[in-house]
Amino acid sequence: MRGYSIWALARNALSGHSGWPRAWRSPAPRSSYDVVIVGAGGHGLATAYYLARRHGIRDVLVLDKGWVGGGNTGRNTVTIRANYLREESIRFHAEGLRMWREMSGELGFNVMFSERGQLDLIQTWAKLRDVKRRQVLLRLAGVPFDIVSPAAAKALVPILDLEGPKRLPVLAATWHPTAGVARHDAVAWGYARAADALGVDIVQGCEVLSIRRDRGQVAGVETARGFIAARKVALAVSAHAGDLARTAGLRLPVETVPLQAFVSEPLKPMLDCVVNCPGQVYLSQSDKGELVIGGGADGVPSYVQRGDFATVERVVSSLVELFPVLGRVRMLRQWAGAIDLCHDTSPIVSKTPVDGLYLDVGWGSGGFKAIPAGGAAFADLIANDMPAAAVAAFSLDRFATGRPLYETAGASNRD
Ligand SMILES: Cc1cc2nc3c(=O)[nH]c(=O)nc-3n(C[C@H](O)[C@H](O)[C@H](O)COP(=O)(O)OP(=O)(O)OC[C@H]3O[C@@H](n4cnc5c(N)ncnc54)[C@H](O)[C@@H]3O)c2cc1C
Repeated sequence: MRGYSIWALARNALSGHSGWPRAWRSPAPRSSYDVVIVGAGGHGLATAYYLARRHGIRDVLVLDKGWVGGGNTGRNTVTIRANYLREESIRFHAEGLRMWREMSGELGFNVMFSERGQLDLIQTWAKLRDVKRRQVLLRLAGVPFDIVSPAAAKALVPILDLEGPKRLPVLAATWHPTAGVARHDAVAWGYARAADALGVDIVQGCEVLSIRRDRGQVAGVETARGFIAARKVALAVSAHAGDLARTAGLRLPVETVPLQAFVSEPLKPMLDCVVNCPGQVYLSQSDKGELVIGGGADGVPSYVQRGDFATVERVVSSLVELFPVLGRVRMLRQWAGAIDLCHDTSPIVSKTPVDGLYLDVGWGSGGFKAIPAGGAAFADLIANDMPAAAVAAFSLDRFATGRPLYETAGASNRD
């Protein structure tokens, strides 16, 4: 791991921080590449890294209209878990958890992954039936996941209030000990650094305006800095997938919806795991002491990065009902990201009817955790022109052939 001495820290602090080496280069884009990846979020950068590292494909350009990690990768609430419903999703995310444990070592950069467990509160009989089914599948896949009593939940999270009148009683809870959190910026920076070191070009502030085709085959991308030819073009642009794909003549089954997050003032340590009340509120405590809080997605499709008041009210009232001790806590910040949602709440990692055009989109409220496994699988797909087994179920044609992969385990679910 590249380290910096205390002397370098002191020298740079006193000299206006002008002497730090660049974490990645800032090249001018060339006129042509083997692969152009659109989107320098976690997925685009991880894909570039695995293309170079595992497949030896280094003639790769990653383009972003903003900056590295400036999309949802830098706006999310960093929950990492594998407690999904469908076998395909469970296997995919179980492999993801393994990769998260090794990520800092692999990238030579501390992404601050902290395996701290996730407690889900179950407040309806329907949800209890759902988690009983899920428990069987998770255990078969070797993912630790237990259904526990309300008293056991309280023992794990002492600030949880189970007394007094509640809109819904806590019937049970689930405990997923291998879930965790990581530092979102560090993940983007770690992959950017490592991909750059392998020869990948990363160009920020360069919007892709459209995808150019030549007789059904991708020819390259029209950008704010001119045309760039490419044999293969890969979209990892989250909420903007539909817009860009349309320029290549494709209509994607992806909706764009705001998903909000909130951060409180820093507090003394009081919560050492992630707590989730599905569809209502979830929270964890950051190393700085701030509570990082989220809830379900807004009801109305939109590109705004602000969010509606109805969701704010729902999240905050659920928070205060379950954790009355937080009733007087002040919020420091609130924001939203525009998430890319398929109606079955599973992603699309797929070839398309346009030769040489690939998609890694539709991650909705759950794509941060999917960065390592998604990037590795997308790189496999681009390199081999065949979906890796891990993502075969996430193909685009599932919508045409009637094989949707309904999930119920995302914050964007309104179940
Ligand atoms: C509030 C919130 C909370 C969330 N919480 C969690 C969580 O706890 N756990 C979890 O797993 N997931 C969570 N998510 C979801 C997760 O953040 C996303 O699924 C994930 O970050 C998607 O990564 P990405 O690389 O696909 O997209 P992004 O990080 O959004 O990157 C896409 C990039 O594409 C660029 N781009 C778009 N259009 C163009 C163009 N035309 N030309 C060039 N560049 C373009 C954008 O500038 C952007 O940088 C949350 C999301 C939000 C908004």
